[in-house]
Amino acid sequence: MAFNKLQIIDPIIESIKTQGYAIPTPIQEQAIPILLEKKDIIGSAQTGTGKTAAFAIPILQNITSSNRRDGIKALIITPTRELAMQIKASFDAYGSNLPLKTVVIFGGVKQKSQTDRLRKGCDILVATPGRLLDLMHQRIVLLDKVEYFVLDEADRMLDMGFIKDVKRIISRVPEKRQTMLFSATLPKAITNLANSILKEPVRIQITPVETTLDTIKQSMYYVRKEEKIKLLAFILKNKEYSSILVFTRTKRNANKVVKILLEKKISAIAIHGNKSQSARTEALYLFKQGKVRVLVATDLASRGLDIEDLSLVVNYSLPDVSETYIHRIGRTGRANKNGVAISFCDNEEFGLLKDIQKHIKMEIPLVRDHPFDVEMSDAFLNNRGPKKELRYMEPKKKKSNRTGYSKKKSSQPLTDKIKNSQPKKKKEVTNAKKRTWTKAKPQTFSSTHGKSSGSRKNYSNKKT
Ligand code: AMP
Repeated sequence: MAFNKLQIIDPIIESIKTQGYAIPTPIQEQAIPILLEKKDIIGSAQTGTGKTAAFAIPILQNITSSNRRDGIKALIITPTRELAMQIKASFDAYGSNLPLKTVVIFGGVKQKSQTDRLRKGCDILVATPGRLLDLMHQRIVLLDKVEYFVLDEADRMLDMGFIKDVKRIISRVPEKRQTMLFSATLPKAITNLANSILKEPVRIQITPVETTLDTIKQSMYYVRKEEKIKLLAFILKNKEYSSILVFTRTKRNANKVVKILLEKKISAIAIHGNKSQSARTEALYLFKQGKVRVLVATDLASRGLDIEDLSLVVNYSLPDVSETYIHRIGRTGRANKNGVAISFCDNEEFGLLKDIQKHIKMEIPLVRDHPFDVEMSDAFLNNRGPKKELRYMEPKKKKSNRTGYSKKKSSQPLTDKIKNSQPKKKKEVTNAKKRTWTKAKPQTFSSTHGKSSGSRKNYSNKKT
């Protein structure tokens, strides 16, 4: 189907063409006609599906046709500053031939430039909840003329503790409005909220979130925690990876990874919650412009960021919440482009890996042929390990290699390895023959974990 079959007005069609969009994505095809009829909608869609245009295009068109410009007509609230800036950029792009003004407001920066822009007129306001409430209290923002209200990434709002703020904001938006709620997942709290704010909504569900995007080639590398940085540098030798997003669990680790990469003359920059807003914006700008090759982020950046031509996502540490894996790797392979997602798993992360694989209902193909490979035990992999104590035993034949981790040099290009690892995934994982973890005399490692050996919370390995 072509965009012009969706009854979109010419100025918007022109802007869409300029963006290079040939046909609507499934969510756009479904949502645009419904939203043009001013019906409420509840949409659950994966990241990278073209959701922003799905709500931005009808909003721009409906405001244009009503011809009333007496205040803020559309309000979009979204959890992160980066996402807010991105949505504003999308409104600017799709509305480039329209006389409508979009303003974005978010916290972490001085409010003056934002309020100056608001005073010059605003038809569409994109906001994060905190700053919006602030400006509402100061009576700089009035929502009494709002006709279109979008709650974006609702589940993320919930995770970040914004739901009360969101409810406060909604209470100030006129009852007579069109409401659009988008969420990657629909937990009970979100459906309850949806029931209270939407009127006879049309439900739209694009690919279920449990499946990962098929345009992404995923692979898993077993590696010792302390060798992750070397493995990352090894992977980055592949110059085909021109823009790489690396996820670490902690801000400290993100800084550390950047520091070491810079020492290795690999251009890198960190983005996380401890950075000032201007530093975050600059990092994203430099990365998007291709001036920095590696962006190292905490999960702050795992949702919503839209970086064109992101060639690789690396899960340097596996996420604590399985679903985050989908959002992280969803930064690549967007809008049907191919992407690569590589994850590292050390011996403390098996539980997380198991949770992720269960969640995405697939085994992530394992790459064994790399210089930092490490043997993992079937006990962990199959979730039937010893319940109380795990001891480390020296592998009998490898006396020279005290740790028991085998290192092999490989001449095969990395991309081939990933490809080769895809079809044989199941066998390769379960056939890991050597068991370095077993019940035996106490030695180097000990672990205390309870009944479910696969649960991340129940075991921790300590080096003594
Ligand atoms: P979103 O899910 O809204 O963050 O969009 C993900 C990416 O898809 C963005 O880079 C958009 O520019 C792009 N996109 C949105 N709609 C289309 C389309 N119809 N055709 C091609 N790319 C699109």
